[in-house]
Amino acid sequence: MTPLLQVEDLRVGYGKIEAVKGISFTVKAGQIVTLIGTNGAGKTTTLRTLSGLIRPTAGRILFDGRPLGDIPAHKVVALGLAHSPEGRHIFPQLTIEQNLQLGAYLRKNTAAIARDKKRAYALFPILGERRRQAAGTLSGGEQQMLAMARAMMSQPKLLMLDEPSMGLSPIMMQTIMSTIQELKSQGTTILLVEQNAQAALSLADQAHVMEVGRVVLSGTGQALLHNQSVRKTYLGED
Ligand code: ATP
Repeated sequence: MTPLLQVEDLRVGYGKIEAVKGISFTVKAGQIVTLIGTNGAGKTTTLRTLSGLIRPTAGRILFDGRPLGDIPAHKVVALGLAHSPEGRHIFPQLTIEQNLQLGAYLRKNTAAIARDKKRAYALFPILGERRRQAAGTLSGGEQQMLAMARAMMSQPKLLMLDEPSMGLSPIMMQTIMSTIQELKSQGTTILLVEQNAQAALSLADQAHVMEVGRVVLSGTGQALLHNQSVRKTYLGED
């Protein structure tokens, strides 16, 4: 089966700085694939490039059989690729409900949108309880839930999550991670960028370790979880 996403020898730079130096990986439909790595490895740059926010300098991105790379961000969303960015970027003055509605801005079927809002509230009950409240009043973890739920409202074929556990308490992190698992079991394909290697590898079907713009190690989540060098560098073992 052709992968949903194929990234081939992708290069991305900021002026003279090359942040992504020729990476290749694929994401098959139904999988969770994770990119892990230290600060500045190029993970966020990769996601921003896939969603059309940055133009690559070289390489190829094929999404659902179509080349991306020159397609602007709003059209990429319409093709079925949603991005829940690092730092969340929810609209604090708007209510939770309005934030979710914005996630569905390209859709016209109001009954289907209402059904998906219900589904989001079932997945994240706290969002349902507070749906008329300004999103800025939510805690960090709750805002993270809203960012994920909003990305899901575009009915993506591929959901990209950038550091969903950032700044969260261990309990909140557990909730977010089990929700990612739940989304997968409901059929969503996920590309997950995470600093928390333990959590990400435990969930991932496939994983890639990035260091200074390159993929230095790839394997199943379980294989990398048991890899000595990964354990030493990313899981803090001696
Ligand atoms: P982190 O885990 O810290 O978010 P990351 O793996 O997501 O790191 P990126 O944010 O993609 O890494 O950064 C990759 C490199 O590109 C870093 O050296 C960073 O300083 C540089 N970089 C990122 N954004 C810009 C920018 N807008 N202008 C110039 N350099 C940038």
